[in-house]
Amino acid sequence: MANFKIVKPADAHVLTLEVVGSKRVSPHVVRVTLGGEGMDHFTPMGYDQWFRLFLTRPDQDALSLPTRSSGLWYVQYLATPKARRPFVRSYTVRAVRPDLRELDVDFVVHGDEGPASRFALTAEPGDRVGLLDQGVGYNPRVEHDWTLVVADETGLPAVAGICESLPDDARGLAVVELPDLADVQDFRVPAGVELRWIARSDGPASADAPSVAGDHAVPGRLALEAVRGADLPSAPVYAYAVGESSLVTGVRRHLVNDRGVPKTHVDFVGYWRHGQAASS
Ligand SMILES: Cc1cc2nc3c(=O)[nH]c(=O)nc-3n(C[C@H](O)[C@H](O)[C@H](O)COP(=O)(O)OP(=O)(O)OC[C@H]3O[C@@H](n4cnc5c(N)ncnc54)[C@H](O)[C@@H]3O)c2cc1C
Repeated sequence: MANFKIVKPADAHVLTLEVVGSKRVSPHVVRVTLGGEGMDHFTPMGYDQWFRLFLTRPDQDALSLPTRSSGLWYVQYLATPKARRPFVRSYTVRAVRPDLRELDVDFVVHGDEGPASRFALTAEPGDRVGLLDQGVGYNPRVEHDWTLVVADETGLPAVAGICESLPDDARGLAVVELPDLADVQDFRVPAGVELRWIARSDGPASADAPSVAGDHAVPGRLALEAVRGADLPSAPVYAYAVGESSLVTGVRRHLVNDRGVPKTHVDFVGYWRHGQAASS
């Protein structure tokens, strides 16, 4: 579910990469570093550049990857017998080091029931994956003076990438809901952009990052509440919401229906749906 227009990569093919290392960077996030010669064909685009990640199924000895580029990979994927198809999930570039041929991916580990979460928890150097660059989602196509970015923990890499790519004179607010304050990360934020963390757990709170527990356990509810309570300027606003599907549709509904923000000024991407696995 999405309402956005991607900035596509020039010529993307499925790249074969391998796990270089992995580490738990915070209680709910495992950072897997991918690398290898395939990185020579990866072009960093900044912002929330994302990709399809192809993962071996438990009963497969080898990774069978689509060879077609752009949208045609999916036709080829569907034509592959189910037993030979890899799992496919979507992830965001957290950092790229072209000189080292390395790319970091931050996986929210939400238990071992999802293949991608399980992959992050068990990744070993040398494990092979496929990566198909999908380009950048953050793509304002309207004049605006102020930016609102909203995310849950799965959108933290997107928020970090957007904040790091925005010009120095950007102004706005980024709201990020996390399971725990210990999942907060450090990254460059333009001076005119306020970064507001909200945590669901009872961990130690601060004035900058209030922490609330109880019936807010479904990711996204607190971020939506924060947006409902936020002061928006009278200047034209562009808003971009990513994360759990009720969060992103709720943000859009609130901004359009209650705040009078034009539909064209709000883009959103549903990253995942509570209680429902991704389809491939
Ligand atoms: C463009 C894009 C970029 C994304 N970037 C990132 C990223 O950088 N990092 C990241 O962690 N995720 C990211 N996501 C979200 C990620 O693709 C989903 O969370 C995906 O469903 C995880 O796959 P899985 O195999 O672990 O679980 P699935 O097999 O899809 O789901 C299994 C179960 O786990 C639940 N579930 C899935 N994700 C979560 C979660 N985060 N918390 C709690 N329960 C969950 C599902 O509802 C389902 O019940 C992105 C999604 C999109 C579309």
